[in-house]
Amino acid sequence: MDFAQAQRIKNLPPYLFARIEKLIKEKRDAGVDIISLGIGDPDMPTPGYIIEEMQKQAEVGENHQYPSSAGMPAYREAVAQWYSNRFGVELDAANEVVSLIGSKEGIAHISFCYLNPGDLVLVPDPGYPVYAGGAILAGAEPYYMPLLAENGFLPDLSAIPADIAQRAKIMFINYPNNPTGAVAGEEFYREAIAFAQAYNILICHDAAYSEIAFDGYQPPSFLQYPGAKEVGIEFHSVSKTYNMTGWRIGWAAGNHQVVEALGRLKSNIDSGQFQAIQYAAIKGLTGPQDAVLQMRQVYQERRDILVDGLNSMGWQLAKPKATFYVWAPVPAGYSSESFAEMVLDKTGVVVTPGSGYGSASDGFFRMALTVKKERMVEALERMKKNIGTVKF
Ligand SMILES: *Cc1c(COP(=O)(O)O)cnc(C)c1O
Repeated sequence: MDFAQAQRIKNLPPYLFARIEKLIKEKRDAGVDIISLGIGDPDMPTPGYIIEEMQKQAEVGENHQYPSSAGMPAYREAVAQWYSNRFGVELDAANEVVSLIGSKEGIAHISFCYLNPGDLVLVPDPGYPVYAGGAILAGAEPYYMPLLAENGFLPDLSAIPADIAQRAKIMFINYPNNPTGAVAGEEFYREAIAFAQAYNILICHDAAYSEIAFDGYQPPSFLQYPGAKEVGIEFHSVSKTYNMTGWRIGWAAGNHQVVEALGRLKSNIDSGQFQAIQYAAIKGLTGPQDAVLQMRQVYQERRDILVDGLNSMGWQLAKPKATFYVWAPVPAGYSSESFAEMVLDKTGVVVTPGSGYGSASDGFFRMALTVKKERMVEALERMKKNIGTVKF
C-alpha cells in the first residue's frame, strides 16, 4: 500500500539532527565513550515524595477512570496557588487554568484554536521546534523573529514590518530561553504586551524554565505584567522544575477565553492526564521546595565549570542566569554543523548545532548541563587536549 500523506505532514520541516545522530551512532558502535552535552532533559530523578504520592494515588480506584480533560479542580487550584505564591499572580482556577499532557501538547494545539490556513505566526529563531511545528500543522506560516546576541537574544519587535504584524495572529515567546539561556525582564514584557494590543496578537509565553535559575535570580512570569491576561497565556509544566519530563503534565494559564478554547479543542482530542499523575504534580507544586534549591545548585556548579572551561579555551561567554543550557558561538571557519561534527570526531563530545533551532542560528551551538560534573570536566579536558585554543 502507498498512502499519500496529507499536505500538513509534508509541510513539516525536515529533522535537522539526523546527520549528527548518525555520526554519534557510528562513534558509539566503534566503541567511543560518548559524552552527550546535547540532551535537554534533566539527568536527576524526580524527588522521592512525589514518587510516593504517585504510588499511593495509583492504588485509588477512582483514579483509574477517565479524568476530566481540563484537569481536576484540585490540580488547577494547586497551579493557581503556586502562581500566587511565586509570582503574586492571581488566577481563577476554574476558568484561567487548563491542564495539559505536558506543555508541549498545549503549545502544539494552541495553533489549532487561533490559526487559519494562510495566517502568520511569529516564532523566535532559534526556538523550540514545537512553536513552528504546531503552526505548520494548522496550515499557518511561521514568520521568524531572529534572536541576536546584540539584542540579548530578545526579538526586536520594532523590526517586524507592520504588514507582517497585521497578519500575525500568535506570537510565541520563551524566557528563560531554550536554547540561548537568555532571560527577559519587565521592559521586554511590557513592550510585547503593547505590541500585542496594537496588532491584536495572542501572546503565548513559554515559561518552562522559570524555576531553573542561578545566583539568586528569580525569573518573572509574563502574567505578572499589566494587560498580560488580556492578550495572552503562559505555558508551564512540572517537567523541568521537579525532573518530571517523563510524567507528561503541564498547564496553560491566563486569558480565560483562550484557556476555554484550548480546553474545548482538547476535549475533542484527549481525555486529560491520569489523576494519580495530577496528584503527584500537586505534591510537587505544594510540597517542600528544597529539592528545587538543591537542583539549582547542582546546575549552577556545572554551569560554572562549563563556562569557565570554554572561556579558558578562548570563548568569552557570560554565565547564563537561567536554564540548563549554554549557547556559544562557533569558532572562525566553522558552520554550526561542521563544528559539532569536528568536536564529536576529535573528542567524542556531543554538542547541538544551532542550525537545528533555526536558520538565523547557524554560527552557534548549544551545550546542556544535564551530565554529572565529573563527565563535564572530562568533556572539557578532551576539548582542551584535542581542539586547544579557538579563534573567532
Ligand atoms: C522542556 C521544554 C518544555 C516543556 O515541555 P513539557 O511538554 O512540559 O515536558 C517547553 N518548552 C521548552 C522550550 C522546553 O525546552
